[in-house]
Amino acid sequence: MSTARTVLETEEHQALRAAVAALGKRYGRDYMTTVVREGKHTDELWAEAAKLGYLGVNLPEEYGGGGGGMAELSIVLEELGAAGSPLLMMIVSPAICGTVIARFGTEEQKRRWLPGLADGTLTMAFGITEPDAGSNSHRITTTARRDGDDWLLTGRKVFVSGVDIADATLIVGRTEDARSGKLKPCLFIVPRDAEGFGRNQIDMELQAPEKQFELVLDDVRLPADALVGDEDAGLLQLFAGLNPERIMTAAFGIGMGRFALAKAVDYARTRQVWKAPIGSHQAIAHPLAAAHIELELARLMMQKAARLYDEGDDIGAGEAANMAKYAAGEACVKAVDQAVHTLGGNGLTSEYGLASLITASRVARIAPVSREMILNYVSHQSLGLPKSY
Ligand SMILES: Cc1cc2nc3c(=O)[nH]c(=O)nc-3n(C[C@H](O)[C@H](O)[C@H](O)COP(=O)(O)OP(=O)(O)OC[C@H]3O[C@@H](n4cnc5c(N)ncnc54)[C@H](O)[C@@H]3O)c2cc1C
Repeated sequence: MSTARTVLETEEHQALRAAVAALGKRYGRDYMTTVVREGKHTDELWAEAAKLGYLGVNLPEEYGGGGGGMAELSIVLEELGAAGSPLLMMIVSPAICGTVIARFGTEEQKRRWLPGLADGTLTMAFGITEPDAGSNSHRITTTARRDGDDWLLTGRKVFVSGVDIADATLIVGRTEDARSGKLKPCLFIVPRDAEGFGRNQIDMELQAPEKQFELVLDDVRLPADALVGDEDAGLLQLFAGLNPERIMTAAFGIGMGRFALAKAVDYARTRQVWKAPIGSHQAIAHPLAAAHIELELARLMMQKAARLYDEGDDIGAGEAANMAKYAAGEACVKAVDQAVHTLGGNGLTSEYGLASLITASRVARIAPVSREMILNYVSHQSLGLPKSY
């Protein structure tokens, strides 16, 4: 499959792509399947990717990172995904948490967290979703109140990924005096062993090493410096992390879509039940071609979003990151669906390993912001249409 990458990617980007693809190839789908079957985590791949500088490629050099941005980090995740071994926690640890701390953290917080997030020795999860808020994050009720110099944090979160393997979770709460009205979010670093910080694993129909958790925060006492950034900076700080999350989810979707598509193309080239391989039938070839086009288009939007974000245009990046996440989620779902179909009965066998991607690909459509909420965003923000809610 040819891709005209040179227009938008520098030689360094292309070299990074090739190097990460080579790493991914050494691990691949078999590695992930084994890790999941044995109930383990992706420690080896995580450590090796970190050692090679890939996990911290977006973080500032003075704190051990690569000094790049989302353009580079998204390349890493996309290529690992295209090889069949995506690292979901990259979306959270270096992309959201690393970025927020790098942009808004105190000097002390940067020194404490960034070198570890960059070299992979520290991992951070991110919790915003709540049972009664869901897509409406303005409705979150996790509340921080002051107690002397400390904070006491109380609330519930759901679907938070990787809390079991994370050294801390960056929790989005709101301050007590901001309980009503518009969301005035504030971000707290909650260490994994903090008293009153409980977690229950949610049973998911996903074959992935990263698990999702319900979190219960019951008067979790945190020191003053657990607050990242300014109590009053609100949405700006939050979106400094959420836009990278969307760009990275796009990378996750594009990588998975490419992986599935490549499997299907391989199969369609050689599988023959009539006179010619099934790939010569246009009913098989055209949907695969369309899936390829849609993945390429999604990547273009992801590159745009990453470029805008890295150039400091948070507003422009917001729209582009939403569109990229939407495009990649849809392209991923369609590519996986078509790939499974292309393999006929083999599409559902464990041997070919595509069927579990049907569930996995839906994550890119639902999280971190659903397809409908992006359509809402574009309707209101880009097109100026009125709101129904
Ligand atoms: C695998 C996985 C990992 C996740 N990891 C994390 C994580 O690490 N941290 C974290 O905080 N969260 C995480 N999430 C949560 C995820 O971000 C949410 O599931 C997502 O934001 C949707 O929220 P919800 O599930 O409450 O759906 P709801 O908000 O209940 O939405 C249900 C449906 O209604 C639609 N809907 C809602 N409101 C509207 C509207 N106004 N107009 C039209 N349609 C609407 C939605 O699009 C959706 O289809 C994860 C989820 C999954 C599946």
